[in-house]
Amino acid sequence: MIRIKGVGQTYDWGKQGEESKVAQLLKKGGQEVSAEKCYAELWMGTHVSGPSEVINGPPLGDYLKDFPAAAGDVIRQVWPDGEGLPYLFKILSIRKALSIQAHPDKKLAEKLHKDRPDLYKDPNHKPELAMALTPMEALCGFRQLTEISSFLSQVPELKVAIGDDISNDFIAAEKEGDEEKKKGELKRLFNSLMHQDPTLIETQIVKLIDRLKVYELALRLDTQFPKDIGIFSAFLLNLVVLKPGQAMFLAANEPHAYISGDCAECMACSDNVVRAGLTPKFKDVDTLCDMLTYNHGTIEILEGEAIDNSTRLYRPPIKEFLLHHTKAQGHEATLAQCNTGSIALIYEGTATLMEGRDTLKVKAGDIVFIRAGANVRVQPKGSVEILRCSANC
Ligand SMILES: [Zn+2]
Repeated sequence: MIRIKGVGQTYDWGKQGEESKVAQLLKKGGQEVSAEKCYAELWMGTHVSGPSEVINGPPLGDYLKDFPAAAGDVIRQVWPDGEGLPYLFKILSIRKALSIQAHPDKKLAEKLHKDRPDLYKDPNHKPELAMALTPMEALCGFRQLTEISSFLSQVPELKVAIGDDISNDFIAAEKEGDEEKKKGELKRLFNSLMHQDPTLIETQIVKLIDRLKVYELALRLDTQFPKDIGIFSAFLLNLVVLKPGQAMFLAANEPHAYISGDCAECMACSDNVVRAGLTPKFKDVDTLCDMLTYNHGTIEILEGEAIDNSTRLYRPPIKEFLLHHTKAQGHEATLAQCNTGSIALIYEGTATLMEGRDTLKVKAGDIVFIRAGANVRVQPKGSVEILRCSANC
């Protein structure tokens, strides 16, 4: 076991100063935080844009080059061309909505990185899993088409923003079209909206916000991103509210926007984001409209699987990562053996970690890299909460 240091990322949407869970963890981990900055993400891993370092030692990636067995041989068997860890582990602290976004699959990521390396900095796909640490809201995946159809009837501004003909075609297809026709019309509808004349969008948003004061989410998004096209996504994407401990998996090419709350997020080691709204950053509307799967319907809420009396396991259907959430109070716990090196963040409390004759006293904010195959026992002092990401192979 070695202590490593996470990297704080400050983005506009993060919570400010020590309001931010990220800043609190950085400070507890011995790093300086500024009261002015917005701390959005804590990165733990080997991604080039924010590599972890071994405390008083080299970057974690270099350490793993010297001790490849620590990462687990299986990692280089599964990803022979890769370097470092296949996952990126994060804590997010969200003050205002993130952009409407989707992440490319492998094939598209390779193309985007090749064509525009300035915008898309790595060639990797970026599936994600988010587990709420506080109540968390997000827009995610297209709604059931009957719901969208009914919004088109109820929300005249949305219908105008999309265009009457395309809206009517969609309503007709939703009633009697086959699945292919329905997806096609949904794509046409979304494309038409996302490419609409900005002046028309502004006029319609003003009308909508004036009229629909009851639509709390639309209202809140408008205070954060006035007249932004992404506000209409509240009617197209599911509004998911996660309780602490609940999670959702976001596959490639699914639209989503986290809105508020704190969460632990694991993802493939990538920072590729295609944005189309609710953002001051570059919007790549064409790419986003083309890349989406246009899958629709309710989002599965993951409760995790209890693997013993202290740990819940969140296992997504991909190899890059899984998440363990361990809570122990007054009794010893075990961190399940992983086939790959893992990164454990002490989220709350104090404990002693024991592996063979190796012991490590840890407290909230400490981050520990655990070698592949290690059996780590946790002796909490009072209580302890540990979040741990490893590869899922
Ligand atoms: Zn995302």
